[in-house]
Amino acid sequence: MRKRIIAGNWKMYKTPRESVDFVAKFLPMIHDHTRDEIVLFPTSTSLSHVIEAVKGSNVRAGAQTMHWLNEGPYTGQTSPTMLASIHCTHVLLGHSERRMYAHETDDMVNWKLKAALLHGLTPVVCVGESLEKRQSGLTEAVLRWQIACALNGVEPESSAALVIAYEPIWAIGTGSTATPNQAQEAHAIIRREIAATLGSARAESTRILYGGSVKPENTATLMAQPDIDGALVGGASLDPDTFCRIVKYQTA
Ligand code: PEP
Repeated sequence: MRKRIIAGNWKMYKTPRESVDFVAKFLPMIHDHTRDEIVLFPTSTSLSHVIEAVKGSNVRAGAQTMHWLNEGPYTGQTSPTMLASIHCTHVLLGHSERRMYAHETDDMVNWKLKAALLHGLTPVVCVGESLEKRQSGLTEAVLRWQIACALNGVEPESSAALVIAYEPIWAIGTGSTATPNQAQEAHAIIRREIAATLGSARAESTRILYGGSVKPENTATLMAQPDIDGALVGGASLDPDTFCRIVKYQTA
């Protein structure tokens, strides 16, 4: 059984004050929720505040990105050891906005993934095709390539923490969600590629989240798909009531 993860990516929203206010409202709403793991990904200036605010609760906090090296002359970067030192537990890697605006390459995602695993962080590796690639019939090729690159040189024994997020670029922040069938198809491709790289046992245990315009109204049908093991939620995670409705989705 793969325990689902419902994660909120706050992108470049919320000051530390606003982040802590969110947590103060949100925790009482979900304090007895054990069915799914809940993770928040605040922006870097809010991260340590959120880690402190969720301490002792059923919510974890992660970083939206990190460097792969431990230290060095890399202005603006944060290292895996720095994240571990503030008790950060999760890290998003290769989000399409990072690939697009910060020019993160497949190689960098691979280096970051290995560094995260080495430092005991739970990596959430984002993959997904553009609209152009989907319309050209290249979804499978893109996903297989991104997974193969990300997992290059990763050992099955050291990758128990691995989490993948399928985030079709055309669905992120656009309001147009992948249909449950489209998402299931993509997740099955990803799981097959993980099996080809890390073996079927690791593929079976790896959580694959769906991200892209997840809302309270579409969560249950997406989560009903056999290969969808949770959600990575952007815009709809910014409001505690809305995010709580997503966390507490009810299957039919
Ligand atoms: C995201 O940023 O990871 C995301 C899925 O955004 P949204 O839910 O707003 O589409």
